[in-house]
Amino acid sequence: MNIVIFGPNGSGKGTQAGLIQKKYPLLAHIESGAIFREHIKNSTDLGKKAKAYMDRGDLVPDEITIPMILETLRQKGTHGWLLDGFPRNPAQAEKLWKALSEARLKLDYVVEIILARPVAKNRIMGRRLCADNPTHPNNIFIDAVKPKDGHCRICGGALSARGDDQDEQAVNKRHDIYYDLKNGTLAAVAFFRELASRGMTRYVEIDGNGDIEEVGEALLKKLV
Ligand code: AMP
Repeated sequence: MNIVIFGPNGSGKGTQAGLIQKKYPLLAHIESGAIFREHIKNSTDLGKKAKAYMDRGDLVPDEITIPMILETLRQKGTHGWLLDGFPRNPAQAEKLWKALSEARLKLDYVVEIILARPVAKNRIMGRRLCADNPTHPNNIFIDAVKPKDGHCRICGGALSARGDDQDEQAVNKRHDIYYDLKNGTLAAVAFFRELASRGMTRYVEIDGNGDIEEVGEALLKKLV
């Protein structure tokens, strides 16, 4: 099964992707932001190029991002994949669709988690990352996933906040890109909705307002 998952930063998209992967463990969870962060951690050339864009909340240029993702899909996606954080604009969406068509691969589902912008902003700025397992949800603004004594509520690991999550200007910029219906991520969603209306993929819309379990249950029910 091949899935693309969309949702604004702060919508719980990564957490939901984790739940999908738990049910379908063979799927490779390919998260563009995480790949970039790994490159930065390892001080690769690509990481050095990407860092300044990421710090500002800008998109890393397509000529860096698109080949990186398509190569990762080829290497890691042989048993299906769950693509998270890519595509983020219509050009990326078109390139992905073209590459899939050329490889005769199906895109089974396009999932969109819907969440209003102010709610997403609050969630993103409260998010804390567990050093031992980045899929453990922790958020200082959400009671259900509040850290315990400043540590991960699941495993007690050390918590940190991503720099770009705490920079309000950068958060706003990321949301400007996501909610942009003309050139941004919602335009990429529209690209796939149009394909779905012609039966070329399936589009699944999920209300992101519930708690993690509610949203996860609604989502998994729709992936058959
Ligand atoms: P994320 O973890 O998805 O919020 O991504 C963190 C940052 O990585 C973004 O703000 C961008 O700078 C960069 N990034 C992630 N995915 C993409 C993409 N598909 N295209 C361009 N830049 C990206």
